[in-house]
Amino acid sequence: MQFSKFGQKFTRRSGILQLMDDLGNALNSDRPINMLGGGNPARINEVNTVYHEIFQQLALDNDGASGLENIGNYSSPQGDSKCIEALVDFFNRHYQWNITKENIALTNGSQNAFFYLFNLFGGAFEQDGQTKNKSILLPLAPEYVGYADAHIEGQHFCSVAPQIQLTEYQEQEGFFKYRVDFEALENLPELKSGQIGAICCSRPTNPTGNVLTDDEMAHLDRIAQRYDIPLIIDNAYGMPFPNIIYSNTTLTWHDNIILCFSLSKVGLPGVRTGIIVAHPKVVHAINCLNAIVNLAPTRFGAAIATPLLKDDRLKTLSDQVIKPFYQKQANFAIDLLKQQLGNYPMKIHKPEGAIFLWLWFEHLPVTTQQLYEMLKQQGTLIIPGEHFFIGLEHENYPHSKECIRLSIAQDDETLRKGIQTIGTTVRQLYDQEQTF
Ligand code: PLP
Repeated sequence: MQFSKFGQKFTRRSGILQLMDDLGNALNSDRPINMLGGGNPARINEVNTVYHEIFQQLALDNDGASGLENIGNYSSPQGDSKCIEALVDFFNRHYQWNITKENIALTNGSQNAFFYLFNLFGGAFEQDGQTKNKSILLPLAPEYVGYADAHIEGQHFCSVAPQIQLTEYQEQEGFFKYRVDFEALENLPELKSGQIGAICCSRPTNPTGNVLTDDEMAHLDRIAQRYDIPLIIDNAYGMPFPNIIYSNTTLTWHDNIILCFSLSKVGLPGVRTGIIVAHPKVVHAINCLNAIVNLAPTRFGAAIATPLLKDDRLKTLSDQVIKPFYQKQANFAIDLLKQQLGNYPMKIHKPEGAIFLWLWFEHLPVTTQQLYEMLKQQGTLIIPGEHFFIGLEHENYPHSKECIRLSIAQDDETLRKGIQTIGTTVRQLYDQEQTF
């Protein structure tokens, strides 16, 4: 049996496959695993109680308009129309975007949306009788590992190394923040020569918990408009849901911005629901892709979200429960890390949002891929940083092999044990080398 080039590309070992495999294996393992690796959201009782109530209502509701009736039919390829109506109303109510149903499409998770968008705006283009290859520009590496292989062919991503700014967090030293290197970005040969099809960033950023400032976003927006390419903003952790964002920021949308939302990080990753807000032409393209790839997107997530959008409970839960929960976990994990490695050359990316901490072990004597293997042997899973430097894989960039991502979505005990293992292992490595 032989696979096509497409088959070969999608069956080779990818970073996202390693991550999802680890996640599945950890959940099914009979030995205890400190799962600080995956992207699963926390199970928060107060939030789960609300979903439970909605499940019960859906099961009882037998009037033909909602409930099980809802999932007894396909939706249109655009997605469940009641949910789309509720979303239009929700966004106009909170942000005055003045959007209509033509501006929204649903997908089977936002991962599905990125696959569509990256292949709509990156890859081979016919222009003036010639074929031109365009990439997706990630203005700030590191970026979400799930983007890395979400394209059919070619060198698909182009990115720029960050500027590293040392900073404080809650009056403590030992933190840093990545900033977009706009000088490098503006002078990027691929951008100047029209080889970029779209700009994309996650905000808050997975893996770092960085939040691009409003000024940085406005600057990216201007570049996108200047080159007549869309700006794709991955809002999986952003406002208004799940709103895991601690810095002062605003959310902007207009016709040249493609905003992607997800129900995953509000605690519903299994319903696989992504939401795209974009120009009607983009929404139409998503409908076409949905029809071919999925017939129609799943309606279950839409059925759960609709009542919670109508009465704003999704937003209230995000503001009052989800966001404070992760901020508390971030602070707890930072305290543990400082206890373990406070006297070692560890720096933590300033936590501004998302569900991870990003640690930088400067001059670590092993790569973080090797550190990952060592920790895995001891039952603690993290994600090695090198997978996240998409578009810079071929650069000699030592920083990319000195960082790890750890999830803070786990319970206190798992965080305590996992961080203890990381502390012991990293201390040993530095002590053997005495490089600091
Ligand atoms: N974008 C970011 C930044 C993510 O972290 C994730 C998942 O972890 C996704 C997109 C994909 O989310 P989903 O497909 O579950 O909506």
